[in-house]
Amino acid sequence: MKRYKIAVIRGDGIGPEIVDEAVKVLDAVSAKEDFELNYEEYLMGGIAYDVKGTPLPDETIEGCLNSDAVLFGSIGGEKWDKLPRDMRPESGLLRLRKALGAFANLRPTKVFDELVNASTLKPEVLQGVDLFVVRELTGGIYFGEPRAKEADVAYNTMIYTREEIRRIAVVGFDSAMKRRKKLCSVDKANVLEVSQLWREVVEEVAQDYPEVSLSHMYVDNAAMQLIRNPKQFDVILTGNIFGDILSDASSMISGSIGLLASASMGGKVGIYEPIHGSAPDIAGQGISNPIATILSAAMMLRFALGEINAADRIELAVKNVLKDGYRTRDLSAMGASEVCSTSEIGSIIANYVAKLS
Ligand code: NAD
Repeated sequence: MKRYKIAVIRGDGIGPEIVDEAVKVLDAVSAKEDFELNYEEYLMGGIAYDVKGTPLPDETIEGCLNSDAVLFGSIGGEKWDKLPRDMRPESGLLRLRKALGAFANLRPTKVFDELVNASTLKPEVLQGVDLFVVRELTGGIYFGEPRAKEADVAYNTMIYTREEIRRIAVVGFDSAMKRRKKLCSVDKANVLEVSQLWREVVEEVAQDYPEVSLSHMYVDNAAMQLIRNPKQFDVILTGNIFGDILSDASSMISGSIGLLASASMGGKVGIYEPIHGSAPDIAGQGISNPIATILSAAMMLRFALGEINAADRIELAVKNVLKDGYRTRDLSAMGASEVCSTSEIGSIIANYVAKLS
């Protein structure tokens, strides 16, 4: 029997509750398939600062590097907001991504037919949307130096090297080849030099992918087009900050931020995590939606472990659970036959996984 080592980082806020449900579903699926998952828990974020005095303890980096994949919930909260930047929970996550070489963040957005009324957008705009954001994750303005905040001035640096752009563009084109072979590169080349280099390198990489149809779009237009006609997109390739913003916007296409999964990969070990944060406003109430984390666990099975049947099984179970009208509170106005708590919906999905033939 195949055995995999999974590093589990539950984190802060709703992190622990959503990760627990993903583990429940993973246990259900591994019981049906021929593999075993061994979990090892590590601290990161505010909880790690409280317990270890740092948001990213060395043993967390080491443990993750020695695993087959990392399943992560979310970090952050007001309690730690006043700490120096290096001690804040978010800095732990940024450093972990860097330490694992996870430079590519893959964020699929699919509209479940059952939730087509869950969005604030019209059903006819949404039906059939299936897009895939490839976001650069370890460069750009979030990491660029110099950076500082002084009394009356503050600045950051948006910086990309040719190599950083090339490797994320390759991920974008490879993703497009596995999908509908359309890639839209999003930048701000009319204003930013860094975007001009971005466009130049993307054009160069495109030479190796003659089957992929490439277009370029400015980020402000892309934000508008995502809302106006999201069906026009297949793969969106973009940098760190633009991808951060566009993928949150695309979450409303699916109906709730609590549905969107992601994979952060590129190095030896990938991090599988929902796109949302720690939702301190609802933490501990048992009302958060664990589906984004459950679908991230499915991405982990697919991309990190190659357990395609298991990943398909989870995705189908989620679809069927939504079809049968089960909803968490964030989706409850949308044709719910039953409003479920976090752990109830996790158990229902695990049961559906177990029942699938
Ligand atoms: P957020 O994503 O945590 O929450 C935004 C809104 O969406 C809130 O109203 C929240 O209740 C809701 N929401 C988020 N996830 C949900 C879920 N699974 N089910 C139901 N509702 C959900 O973003 P924020 O409020 O801007 O940030 C809160 C904290 O999270 C901050 O400390 C921020 O730095 C941190 N953060 C962490 C990550 C991460 O861990 N990857 C990402 C973004 C923000």
